[in-house]
Amino acid sequence: MNAVNPLASGERLFISGNEAVARGAWGAGCKVMAAYPGTPATEILEYASRMPEMYSEWSVNEKVSLEICIGASLAGSRALCAMKHVGLNVASDALMTQTLIGVGGGLVIAVADDVGLSSSQNEQDSRFWGRFAHVPVLEPSDAQEAYDLTRFAFDLSEQFDTPVILRMTTRICHVKGVVGTSQRRAHNSGVGFSKDPARLVMIPTNAKHRIPLMYQREEKLQRFSEESELNLLKDGSDNRIGFVTSGPVYMHLQEAYPEAPILKLGMSYPVPIGKIRDLASRVEQLVVAEEVEPILEGEIKAAGVRVLGKEILPRIGELAPQALRPAIGRLLGEAPSVEEPVPGHPLADVPEVKVPPPPPGSSLFPRPPTMCVACPHLGIYYCLSKIRNKAISGDIGCYTLGAGHPWNALDTTICMGASMGVAHGLDKGRTDVDKDQKIIAVIGDSTFMHMGMQGLLDITYNRGNVTILLLDNRAVGMTGGQDNPGSGRDIHGKESPRINFAKLCEALGVKPERIHEVNPYELPILFKALREEVKVDDTSVIITNQPCVLVDFYAAKPPFRVEDDKCTGCKNCLDVGCPAIYVTRRETVVKPNGKEKELAFVRIESSACTGCNLCPSTCGPDAIVPVENFIRH
Ligand code: SF4
Ligand code: SF4
Ligand code: SF4
Repeated sequence: MNAVNPLASGERLFISGNEAVARGAWGAGCKVMAAYPGTPATEILEYASRMPEMYSEWSVNEKVSLEICIGASLAGSRALCAMKHVGLNVASDALMTQTLIGVGGGLVIAVADDVGLSSSQNEQDSRFWGRFAHVPVLEPSDAQEAYDLTRFAFDLSEQFDTPVILRMTTRICHVKGVVGTSQRRAHNSGVGFSKDPARLVMIPTNAKHRIPLMYQREEKLQRFSEESELNLLKDGSDNRIGFVTSGPVYMHLQEAYPEAPILKLGMSYPVPIGKIRDLASRVEQLVVAEEVEPILEGEIKAAGVRVLGKEILPRIGELAPQALRPAIGRLLGEAPSVEEPVPGHPLADVPEVKVPPPPPGSSLFPRPPTMCVACPHLGIYYCLSKIRNKAISGDIGCYTLGAGHPWNALDTTICMGASMGVAHGLDKGRTDVDKDQKIIAVIGDSTFMHMGMQGLLDITYNRGNVTILLLDNRAVGMTGGQDNPGSGRDIHGKESPRINFAKLCEALGVKPERIHEVNPYELPILFKALREEVKVDDTSVIITNQPCVLVDFYAAKPPFRVEDDKCTGCKNCLDVGCPAIYVTRRETVVKPNGKEKELAFVRIESSACTGCNLCPSTCGPDAIVPVENFIRH
């Protein structure tokens, strides 16, 4: 163990790709790291924050995190910002001009694509940004490469005066492997911030001169890519098929086709077409295996090289061995076709495989995502379910789970902060059919600060009529409870100024009398505020003020239980959606009017119940009572 830094260096460690990136940045002498939490990349910064030699911060969004790193780079230091794939959409405004000015200290953007959508609203391929911004893309295929390529990315950045994209995927981020680490290198550019308006002030006259330099840089990178050992041919004895691949698919191919030649692109942009052409000349058939989009495939075909790709391989999800084998097996004539061939297709006897088969373990009992026991959002959705004739635009966070059972509450969810603009559009675009519809937006504290504030400003500026539920749970709940300006703590848990949401909303144009702060566990008060504000022809904000149950300062209270003989099976408490409440028996009865009614008799798992007091207030017969003499361990 390193005596100065509690994190080991110069050792072999069993770590995830995310930790490897943080350690690789540390080893490269990186000084500044910034991120907004987002699965699957969140842990990169969490690990980095434990390394005292680096400044690290949770930024309010990905664009800000990139801008911080641009500034640090221009100041002469090495900097890395980390984000999930949709984060780079947000940060792209900065990237698309930053690529013109170049770097001071090395600048690395670690972006993680959620291939397979384990925790995202879409599936995107961040390699496109390399083409769009004319910057190199590095792709590790395991945790060791995540470490090595992160270190190398800083050198590449400085050598070619360019930001570098490190493209990760969920598998690389989360899967652990043995990683050999090195000591931290000192990085000293020798110069501080160097004033150079012609390079750094991107007005049209200056930018025009920078664009040709960017293209020259891209050409140099192209030559580098052709010569670099990052793009390595693993030779094989079976020349029936050769593969071009990048990222974790390399490992899957090695497992499924160990004898096949594989050109592994550690630097997947610019594309080393010469090396690909060379491999094509040595094999009977060239296949490009890439997650997600057919980017390499299109570029290889445009270069006149005959290659197969998404005609035979799935376009969504991971290219794990079980996705590769059926398609490649058919190509090799090893699996008989059961589908009709595509007429006129160059491989008329090879049926298309569009969707990968389920991964191993998918036969497990399905467990839909749900909110935690006593989540402060439960009462919100319980109350919303009682409001009629409404449209609810949701946002990205734990409260997106309100779209599921039993609440089925959300009508839209698009992207970070979109609840505001979408609600405003639903209001302004309403037709006579919806003239009395109540427009409601639901957004969390962190998402509001990330990208929602601007939407609220737009609503008030344009005299909109939206009831906004701002769910302040004092954490970025969905990604594990990271701090933000609403929690009053920084990434190290130290006290920071805590934003006052009521004042912030007032500053954004909401009338003070239309702003209410409520305890979401007090259902009568919450419901009254909601019912009154949806009737008002103005913009209102209802701020809930109770923390996520997973934050360290959440205080559980004595739990509740159900008195069996009092429970009438009315099911009201089930509408709260708390996972601690479970059904013990169902019965169907016939009402006096002849209609059937289903009853569900319930109990509470007292060891899980935190005594939040939500469900007792939904129980008419007072069947939910405190557990006496309970001792919480
Ligand atoms: S993590 Fe927190 S905010 Fe998210 S569902 Fe659980 S309690 Fe609710
Ligand atoms: S609300 Fe009360 S009476 Fe109704 S099912 Fe729940 S515990 Fe039983
Ligand atoms: S009081 Fe009810 S809603 Fe709250 S945690 Fe316990 S069972 Fe869940």
